[in-house]
Amino acid sequence: MRSLVFIIGCSLLLIAVGFGQQPPKKNAFVEKIVREVSSKNIKATIGKLVSFGTRNTLSDTASESRGIGAARRWLKTEFERYAQASSGRMAVEFFETVAPVSQRIPSPTRVVNVVATLRPEHAGPSADRIIVISGHYDTMPGSATDAQSDAPGANDDGSGTAIVLELARVMSKYPFDATIVFMAVAGEEQGLLGATAWAEMAKSRNLKIEAVFNNDIVGSTVAGDGTKENRYVRLFSEAFSPLDTGSVFRQRISLGLENDGGSRSLARYIKEIGERYNPKFGVALVYRLDRFLRGGDHRPFHERGFRAVRFSEVKENYDHQHQNVRVENGKEYGDLPKFVDYEYCANVGRINAAAIATLARAPQPPENVGVLTSQPGYDTVLRWAINPEPDLAGYLVRYRQTSAPLWEEAVFTSDTTITLKVSKDDYLFGAQGVDKEGNAGLYTVPRPVRR
Ligand SMILES: [Zn+2]
Repeated sequence: MRSLVFIIGCSLLLIAVGFGQQPPKKNAFVEKIVREVSSKNIKATIGKLVSFGTRNTLSDTASESRGIGAARRWLKTEFERYAQASSGRMAVEFFETVAPVSQRIPSPTRVVNVVATLRPEHAGPSADRIIVISGHYDTMPGSATDAQSDAPGANDDGSGTAIVLELARVMSKYPFDATIVFMAVAGEEQGLLGATAWAEMAKSRNLKIEAVFNNDIVGSTVAGDGTKENRYVRLFSEAFSPLDTGSVFRQRISLGLENDGGSRSLARYIKEIGERYNPKFGVALVYRLDRFLRGGDHRPFHERGFRAVRFSEVKENYDHQHQNVRVENGKEYGDLPKFVDYEYCANVGRINAAAIATLARAPQPPENVGVLTSQPGYDTVLRWAINPEPDLAGYLVRYRQTSAPLWEEAVFTSDTTITLKVSKDDYLFGAQGVDKEGNAGLYTVPRPVRR
């Protein structure tokens, strides 16, 4: 009788902690943020950026109306305007480095990022976690060292910069658990200079950067060959950090984790959350650092071991990138606003907004996640350390077949161990922390542990 009571008691306990399938759900907070992203504002920002004529990193910095100096002062003013809605939580600054002479820098040049940092209202276990969203505001005409010619850069990368600014406007009003950095970067066309300097600073200060969302060329839908695509965006991620060498690399390969590195996992997360909140717009994962033999501002972060990914439109038009504005044989060249699809750009912004808002509210990735290997078994036993967040509800344990690109199953538990009725030979696993609003953080992939 006593043991029967005990068994019933245990079953009730299991029900009470919600053990079982938990369908992914939206929450009103993130929905509201996604809804506020406006194509009208994105259009206005791109128009203003183009009005500076050129934003080449080598261009004039004294004029109030033309060149990169005027552009960055305007960006700073805009961020400061949004900071007023943040009750003192958002700080805006120039982050400056001097680039020495190189192939694309004829004389030492100031490279200035405009950085807005939105801190949490209260210090908590997530306050030092940092999520970065970036776009580059510098531009180039046909030559990277041409500081005089018009280089409107409406799409490359007025589009990414406009998304960064729009998300700063929307998100500065709301509280988050983690810190969000909104960054407009310079020197991209000279060799990722502004992003590299900031990533190096972050590395040397041991900043806890959890994710970098780089938006570069995210505003056009028609390619030079006339083909059109406005239903989804590409999201580039490299499989491994180049820092994962030697035995770390060999263990990843031997465990079949070639698609579960940090940046690739982040890309999978963004697709899942982004499409949940902006369901009519898709995210296509591309298993590659960037477009073929090309690069972007997420690269210096990825190379330093941070999770970092790049958004780019599907249909690039090479007549409108890195071209002097001109008409030749009846064909228009140049990166002009009329070739930008503002609603498309806003949709890319909504994907960013959903994933960043969720991540910045969610718990950190669980630590010490292990898959038990002490004895052969038909089930898979996972366990992990308890998360420190006061608003933690529990954990989502994810799994998928080894050849599947996306998680197939989600099981919720408030415990720190779980037994799954599947074989660890055939599946890949991950654990996420979930808060009481249902926001789930990034996945941690288990390591083999004896006990
Ligand atoms: Zn670019």
